[in-house]
Amino acid sequence: MRKNLVAGNWKMNMTLQDGLALVSEITNMVQDEVTGSDVQVVICPPFPFLSAIGKQLPEGGRFHLGAQNCHQKESGAYTGEVSARMLQSVGAEYVILGHSERRQYFREDNELLSQKLKAALAAGLKPIFCVGESLETREADDTFNFISQQLKEGLFHLSNEEFDQVVVAYEPIWAIGTGKTATSAQAQEVHAFIREQIARAYDAEAAENTTILYGGSANAQNARELFSQPDVDGGLIGGAALKSRDFTEIIKSF
Ligand code: PEP
Repeated sequence: MRKNLVAGNWKMNMTLQDGLALVSEITNMVQDEVTGSDVQVVICPPFPFLSAIGKQLPEGGRFHLGAQNCHQKESGAYTGEVSARMLQSVGAEYVILGHSERRQYFREDNELLSQKLKAALAAGLKPIFCVGESLETREADDTFNFISQQLKEGLFHLSNEEFDQVVVAYEPIWAIGTGKTATSAQAQEVHAFIREQIARAYDAEAAENTTILYGGSANAQNARELFSQPDVDGGLIGGAALKSRDFTEIIKSF
């Protein structure tokens, strides 16, 4: 079922001690200040902190643990890698896949990502699958083609049951970490397009039920306007997820 959701992607930032302090501030503020909203919150720290951060999240409520990546294989001789099953075993419920930084710096393409999705789903994780165009693609007026290809090659090979578990994040690359946010109209236009593509690949019910997040310099000032759009169900937050007050304000923006 479609839900309001805010996910914080810590990327490669902080120490465990900083992370524990941040989570304690966030959970206290959210518990005190977020009432009458069923917004779900996913905290995605680096791998080494997952277990400890997970233990600090209040149980059975709106808080969930997520990872930032996983390997496509179940297990084996892949030194330095982390499997989906390992993530699940330390309490992760979600995993971000296809983030533009993984696509860019680690050469992850739609083919590899489709394997990672399968691995995550087989381990019982909910993927947060990221798509989004570069500035060059947007300026060439090719955004819809590009995103449609990412969805087709990366995501739409899943069965209906598998697809039910997926959260989609629209993250225009030109907006990530740049301070340059998509306007709410730009975000809504692409979110509506993504929902339409889902309806074509699956059906209208699947499209209606899919949670689609916006990511790219979302902050405490612009979140309310972005989240008020009919097809924007929440946000995938980078920089502002590292500041307890900012992240809490974003969570309050529904
Ligand atoms: C992200 O990395 O997913 C992201 C949206 O980052 P930022 O909010 O810093 O742009």
